[in-house]
Parts: sequence; C-alpha cells; structure tokens
Amino acid sequence: MGISLLTICYLIASVTFILGLKMLSNPASARKGNLIAAAGMTIAIIGTIFLYEDNAEKLHNHAWIFGGIFIGGVVGTLAAKKVKMTAMPEMVSLFNGMGGACAALISISEFHNLGINTTPGWEMPDGGQTKLLIIFLGLIIGSVSFAGSIIAWGKLNGRIKDFAFTGQQIFNIILLLVAVSIAAYLIFNISDTNYYLFYVVLAVAISYGILFVFPIGGADMPVVISLLNSFTGVAAACGGFLYDNKAMLTGGILVGSAGTLLTILMCKAMNRSLANVLIGSFGGSAKTTSGTTKEQGAYKEISLSDAAMVMTYAHKVMIVPGYGLAVAQAQHACHELEKLLTEKGVEVKYAIHPVAGRMPGHMNVLLAEADVSYDNLLEMEQANEEFPTTDVVLVLGANDVVNPAAKTDPSSPIYGMPILDVELAKTCIVNKRSMKPGYAGIENDLFFQPKTSMLFGDAKKVLQDLIGEIKNL
Ligand code: NDP
Repeated sequence: MGISLLTICYLIASVTFILGLKMLSNPASARKGNLIAAAGMTIAIIGTIFLYEDNAEKLHNHAWIFGGIFIGGVVGTLAAKKVKMTAMPEMVSLFNGMGGACAALISISEFHNLGINTTPGWEMPDGGQTKLLIIFLGLIIGSVSFAGSIIAWGKLNGRIKDFAFTGQQIFNIILLLVAVSIAAYLIFNISDTNYYLFYVVLAVAISYGILFVFPIGGADMPVVISLLNSFTGVAAACGGFLYDNKAMLTGGILVGSAGTLLTILMCKAMNRSLANVLIGSFGGSAKTTSGTTKEQGAYKEISLSDAAMVMTYAHKVMIVPGYGLAVAQAQHACHELEKLLTEKGVEVKYAIHPVAGRMPGHMNVLLAEADVSYDNLLEMEQANEEFPTTDVVLVLGANDVVNPAAKTDPSSPIYGMPILDVELAKTCIVNKRSMKPGYAGIENDLFFQPKTSMLFGDAKKVLQDLIGEIKNL
C-alpha cells in the first residue's frame, strides 16, 4: 500500500513545525521560522480540504470551510496589524483561548457523532472507550484553557480585577476532581440515559478555568499564560488523535511540550511550584497602594546633565529594560545611547529579567527589533553576578523586576520571585514617569534607597535628551 499524498502533506507540515520551532529560539531566524511553520500549516489545511477522504467521500461543504477561513483570516490579520506591541500578551491570550475553544468544540462534535443521545439503546462500539477518553481529555483541557485564557485576557487589559474567596483553593481542587470523576464514570458507564452528564463536565471545566485564574495576581500572570498555552497544545493534540491527523497531533504535542517547558522555566524564574499554579493559589492579589502605604521617606532626583555625566565617565553601565520601555517604544533610542556610550569607551550591557514586560521574552523581542546585539544581553543570574562590578545601573521603565520586597517582605505578592539585584551596583538611576507602582501594584523601596536617583519622564524622551547631553559633553 502506497503512502497517500495527504500523509506526505502532513509529514511536510510536521517537519516545518519542528524547523520553525527550532528557528524561533533565535531572534535572527525567528521571523523566518514563523513563516516556514505557517507555510507548513497552509499545506496541511489545503491538503485536508481537498485530499481527505472518509469512506471514499471527500469534504464537500467548501462554502462553510472557506467562509470560516476568510472571516477568521480577515479578523486575525486586522487584529495582528492593529495591535500595539504592549497589547501583544492580551492578543496572545485571546488567540490561545480560541485554540482551547476549538479543541473543546471538536470534542463536543465528536461526542455527538457517537450518537449516544440520538440512538435509543445505544451500546459502546469497539474502541469506543478510548475515543471517549480522548474526547473528555480534549473537552476538559480545552475548556479550562478557553475559560482561563479569557480571564487572563481581561486581567491583562485591566477589564477584570483579581477575585478570591476563602477556601477557593479547596473549591478549585473539588471542581477539578468532580470534572475528572464524572468523565471517568461516563467512560465506563455511559448510556442514553446519563449522557447529559457530558455537559455537566463541560460546565464544571469552564468554571474551574475561570476560578483558577481569577485569584492569580501580582507578578504571577506570565506563568499562568504559558501554562494555558501548553493546555491548548495538549487539547489540540487530542483532536489530532480523534481525527488520526498527524499534523494536528505533531503541532499539538509541540505546543504542549514547548508550553510545558516554558511554564517550568517561568515557575523557576518566579520561584513558584507548578502544583500551586494549578490550584490557582500562588502569589496574591495585587494591592493598590495609593495613599495607604507605609512611610517610604524621601527619594532624590537627578538632572539629565548629571545623569549624562555619571554614565559617560563610568567604566561599566548596565541597562535594565522593563515594561515602560515597551510602552514608550524607546528601544531604538536605547540602542543609540548604548552605541554612544560604547564609542566613549564605556562597557554597556543589558540585564534581562525573565518576566520583564508583559509577555515571555518581551524584552528580547523589543531589543532585537532595535538590532541590539544578543551578546550584550545578560540573563538574570549572570547580571546579578555582574552588578557588584557595575558603576551605573540605568533602570528604564522597570519596577517589579527590581523590587527588593521580593527578597525582604514575606507579605508582598511578589515575595520569593528572584529579582535583579540592582542595588548592588555603585549607583542606580531609575527612569519612569512618576512614583506610581508597576504591574503588581506595590511600592518599591529601591526608589528610596540612598544609592538611587530618579530621572522622571517618558523613557523615549529621556533617552533622546540624554543622548543630546552626552554628545555635548
Ligand atoms: P512593571 O509593570 O513592574 O513597571 C513598569 C513601570 O514602567 C511602571 O512602574 C511605570 O511607571 C513605568 N512606565 C510606564 N510607561 C512608561 C514610559 N512611557 N516611560 C517610562 N516609564 C514608564 O514592569 P516590569 O517590566 O518591571 O515588570 C513586569 C511585570 O509584569 C511583572 O510584575 C511581571 O510579572 C508582569 N507580567 C509579565 C508578563 C510576562 O510574560 N513577561 C505577563 C504578564 C505580567 P510610571 O507609570 O510611573 O511611568
């Protein structure tokens, strides 16, 4: 028996997914990797539409298929073109949620195809239990991913506030157990009289998805986002199993495993445990600090000319980029400052915290866009080793990732998260627009320490002015 053309399409698609993922690990090849994987996905989709056969019958509802592709394509293209770089995480969350919803819908549709609710006296066919197991896996994981991602989307754009109640963790565990137990019961005992319990599993899984993301606040969102991403991958792989579609299976497994690896790395970076993430208990709700905080003392400001002078005559300057750099779109100005200082004989490096910004790898993407050399980017551990020998740290729109409360205040929502130890450097200049808190909503002692000086203003404007000052020195 020869290999069908469709199998070859799926094989090509699977290879492009693996190649694409490999190329995504380097900013220089990432764009190309994305295009290659997208081309593979196109081959898989076109192949399925025109070559797929079931009992010698091909897909015939082309108007629905192409109508859906057209509408989804237009909405996706417009959303991707319009989205601001700083709103990318929200969009990623929303798209991820759609992936989870698709996986859950596949399960619902395949459940209907079993005919339990339409055939009186229905009996389990051969291999039916395995199919039902995969249907339930896709349903539960896909619904959790969908509901959780929508809550994460709302939280990232500020529409949904943190919400928790006493005993919520226990309640979450019970919800999960209920969904899994009913699913397990149905796999062995489903009949035309109890099939409606399938929808109870759906409702419970959605409730769990909502409730496990609701209380997660402060700085812990990145871990949840990457976990939800891996859920969607696993749910999609279940679809691949159901349809015996190798491309869907490979794609799902790749997303699932890459997401799981990222989640583990993020957990490590935030010093949280995976079990904690799953029951939605870690971190803590963001607390707004306006007017109710402890007395922090006074902070001191530095003028542009003094800041320019201090940096120009330093041996080593470490730049700490944060979310504010992305808001200000100051990456190009930042690179220009780096080049200018380097020309003047200053050693300039960047300290990259794994959760700086609003999405995993945000700062790497931003700085790569401005052609900052990858060699100058230091990961957190490496940067922390170099701070004691650094003359000037320039914090650009970063806040939570340099907050010493993570080390000193057990009541802080970011307590336990490793941070950049900028206070170990000789001098620290912090650029932001005001004394307002960052994402976690907490004050930052760093701004009040004797070695720290505040340089207020929009990051891009401040950098451009600094460049002007340094050129005039
Ligand atoms: P933060 O959100 O803690 O702080 C950013 C700071 O930038 C603010 O305090 C703000 O102060 C300042 N800022 C805003 N706009 C500008 C501007 N135009 N010019 C200069 N400064 C500006 O950022 P960090 O990068 O330090 O930390 C990231 C936080 O986001 C962490 O808590 C992380 O957990 C969380 N997060 C990360 C995700 C990820 O995957 N990386 C995903 C979701 C959340 P001011 O208003 O005074 O200017």
